[in-house]
Amino acid sequence: MKKEYVDVAIIGYGPIAKMLGSLLGNKGWKVGIYEKFVEPYCLPRAVAMDDEIARILQGAVPSDKLEKLFDAAGGEMYNWYNAERELLLSIPFEKEGVSGWPGELFFNQPSLEKEMDQTCSNLSSVMIHYGNEVIDLKEKQESVELTVKEHSGEERKVIAKYTVGCDGANSFVRENMEHTVTDLNFEYDFLVVDLIPKEKSELPVIMQICDPERPTTVVSGGPGRRRWEFMVLPHESKEEVSQEEYIWELLEPWNHTPENSILERSAVYTFKALWVNEWRKGRVMIAGDAAHLTPPFMGQGMCSGIRDAANLAWKLDLVLKGKLNEGILDTFTEERKPHNEKVVSAALYLGEMICVNDPKKAKERDTAFISGKVPPFPAFPILTDGILYQPGEEKKDNLAGQLSFQSKVKYHNKVGLFDDVVGTGWTIISPVQNPRELLNNSQLRFLKDLDATCIEISSVDEDGKGTVVDVTGKYSEYFEENDIEAVIVRPDYYIFGSTSDVSKVSSIVEDLASQLKKYMNTVTVQ
Ligand SMILES: Cc1cc2nc3c(=O)[nH]c(=O)nc-3n(C[C@H](O)[C@H](O)[C@H](O)COP(=O)(O)OP(=O)(O)OC[C@H]3O[C@@H](n4cnc5c(N)ncnc54)[C@H](O)[C@@H]3O)c2cc1C
Repeated sequence: MKKEYVDVAIIGYGPIAKMLGSLLGNKGWKVGIYEKFVEPYCLPRAVAMDDEIARILQGAVPSDKLEKLFDAAGGEMYNWYNAERELLLSIPFEKEGVSGWPGELFFNQPSLEKEMDQTCSNLSSVMIHYGNEVIDLKEKQESVELTVKEHSGEERKVIAKYTVGCDGANSFVRENMEHTVTDLNFEYDFLVVDLIPKEKSELPVIMQICDPERPTTVVSGGPGRRRWEFMVLPHESKEEVSQEEYIWELLEPWNHTPENSILERSAVYTFKALWVNEWRKGRVMIAGDAAHLTPPFMGQGMCSGIRDAANLAWKLDLVLKGKLNEGILDTFTEERKPHNEKVVSAALYLGEMICVNDPKKAKERDTAFISGKVPPFPAFPILTDGILYQPGEEKKDNLAGQLSFQSKVKYHNKVGLFDDVVGTGWTIISPVQNPRELLNNSQLRFLKDLDATCIEISSVDEDGKGTVVDVTGKYSEYFEENDIEAVIVRPDYYIFGSTSDVSKVSSIVEDLASQLKKYMNTVTVQ
């Protein structure tokens, strides 16, 4: 049997695999991607993402191309109405999120994946194998051995240092990994209909109609597209609602007909809320839908998977470089699982609100929402566990676990978003002075080992001096509003720690070093 050797084998080639493949391939790692379908799966599922995800995607799609994929909804409201079209809940989308993109963005998943695929395919160390189903997985002492069945029926072995199952809801990798599942027992069928209207739609970018006669989501499907998600009622069958005639009847009240719109596709999906409790066993990990499922009312299923990829990529990179040992990979579950659980719980809050067919219960819900007698919609979670600066007492100037700020800057005569012109990875930023001037030699060596960058950001255009220029003044506003003078940013854009006194930056670096020391092979601070 033929054998092939890779650093990381990624099973499946959905959006999460594409993200992880790009991040690891960009670092030069030999990545083998194995997808059982013979060609790309071109049906849209996800339509919404937030600014954090757009920032992570900058690592897979150039910003100018990314921008063209979006219908931006920054500054708009996500409104929830009852059957009488009274407002029950209103969730604002930030005009510009902290990550440098509008707070909510709508897109067509196949168009996004096509761009992501282009990046992956162009990376010389990434090999994408379509029509390759992984049918066996065995963890060995120093590797994972996979059996891959080609479309022709021929089988071959893949020997990988690490394997990541990005193989979706019915994950083969998960089933071959000892695991337990927490199921929140939310299960509803929705008919998902994607249209291409011939004229520009006048409908709001997104709204929810909590009508017990037909709970319905009305949403943009990205530029030039619209989506409806109709709840399948208890007396209806999946087959019945999938008939084209039935679909046009459902769309009629929305003034969409075969004359003014093209029915791109329709499918019935079962929305679920669950997560796997163990995302890593030895050299095998799972990410994306393989690890968690969420009802799409917050537009966060794929988003959570993209966060998984960003979290795992920097840790695998350090392990593969031999700088940290495998223990760091345990922080993947430790950090991502609680964050994801809070996202799923928030989606469930919305799911339980809309998935009501009983008119009496719907009336009670309406009264409760209109009179304000409901628990508030939860705030979006931050990172609370793992590699974070948490020195015991809570400090107002320590933004550990929050997302870091990104905006436009000028650097070496190039103007663009920070990550595009300065770069990514561990970054220490201060508007007061270059933080490296405050660090001792061993701390500088430690940061060099992490490929970290120290940046002074200034409102004054001193480009020749190597400072990063805050061309819009937004960085200055951010540091002032939060009353901080320095921030240490992780490669997945979460804040490790921050301080209102730049001279304290060395103690935060020291804390990072001591946390990583637990997992260290060669990264050292003496
Ligand atoms: C109706 C609907 C609306 C949604 N809306 C949103 C939204 O607005 N925003 C959002 O963030 N998310 C949304 N989601 C969720 C989002 O679509 C998914 O979370 C995301 O697509 C999952 O990506 P993935 O890469 O984990 O898995 P998938 O895209 O499912 O990819 C898994 C791949 O693995 C392959 N595979 C499986 N087994 C094997 C094997 N043994 N060998 C080789 N290959 C294998 C499969 O063929 C598949 O291509 C929505 C989902 C639905 C259904």
